[in-house]
Amino acid sequence: MKIKFWGVRGSIASPINGKMVEQKIREVLKLASPADILSPESIDRFLQTLPYSLKGTYGGNTTCIELITEEDQTIIIDAGTGLRQLGKSLVDNGKMTGKGEISIFLSHSHWDHIQGLMFFLPIYFKGNKIKFYSSVENLEERLRYQQIKTHFPLTLDEMAADKIFNHFPEGVTEELYGLEFTSKAVRHPGGCFSYKFTQPDGKSFVFCSDAEFSIETMDNIEAYIEYFRNADVLVFDTQYTFEESLQKIDWGHSSAAIATDIAIKSNVKKLILFHHEPFYDDAKMDLVTINAFKYKDMTAPSHFLKIETAYEGMEIDI
Ligand SMILES: [Zn+2]
Ligand SMILES: [Zn+2]
Repeated sequence: MKIKFWGVRGSIASPINGKMVEQKIREVLKLASPADILSPESIDRFLQTLPYSLKGTYGGNTTCIELITEEDQTIIIDAGTGLRQLGKSLVDNGKMTGKGEISIFLSHSHWDHIQGLMFFLPIYFKGNKIKFYSSVENLEERLRYQQIKTHFPLTLDEMAADKIFNHFPEGVTEELYGLEFTSKAVRHPGGCFSYKFTQPDGKSFVFCSDAEFSIETMDNIEAYIEYFRNADVLVFDTQYTFEESLQKIDWGHSSAAIATDIAIKSNVKKLILFHHEPFYDDAKMDLVTINAFKYKDMTAPSHFLKIETAYEGMEIDI
């Protein structure tokens, strides 16, 4: 399977502004020498040396991940504002223009995870089939409520595509497009579910955002470690720094340090830091990444775990 990130931010969409772009240009110009800008090739070489915060941006859209199966079927995880561009890309590629089918898994119904649905172009094409999967029992009711006329001009029924709602209870394993999937409830205000997808060859992808973990105080931590065990890729809520996570108990999010501890205990191969704090700019996200590397090197230097920070457009083959 292939994973593509369309929205990586937590809580609220947070695009960068003109001042931030100007600041990046200023920093880059300070770093460049005359030799760096002599030719297109030297410029390319120079760009490669820059930190990610200067040559790009982690992105401001909220949670939306695309999973493309070996059978070339699309599964979407969460419908944050990143879903808008994913929908446009599907239509532009002729995939969802009236005869297409995709499945959308929703972890919970906080705004930052459902707000993109009304701007998802494929849902307006008659003949498209959109299958919703969730361990949230009354998901359809919640999505209908989001679109009553006082909140949005069109109701769910006025969107032309066929919409099919599938509830599956926590912990049950089912199959879709050649993948096995299951869910596990996580600690988060209002409730939230993590989803795990496993290929026939055993390779697995776990999405676990909007989740507050504490290794010391959680009685059932072993059950989670078993659930995450040997995952090839684990996308984990790391909205806070470690210090913030100690202050923001019960806010429903975790830190990169806690995520790293859990990933190491579970023998995860790759940990993706995700659901970034909206007040963190790109320079701060570079720092979060560096601190996560340092923490891992300090606590488990010989473990094979790789850590990366999610950014819009990031792709991973599993
Ligand atoms: Zn969220
Ligand atoms: Zn949430």
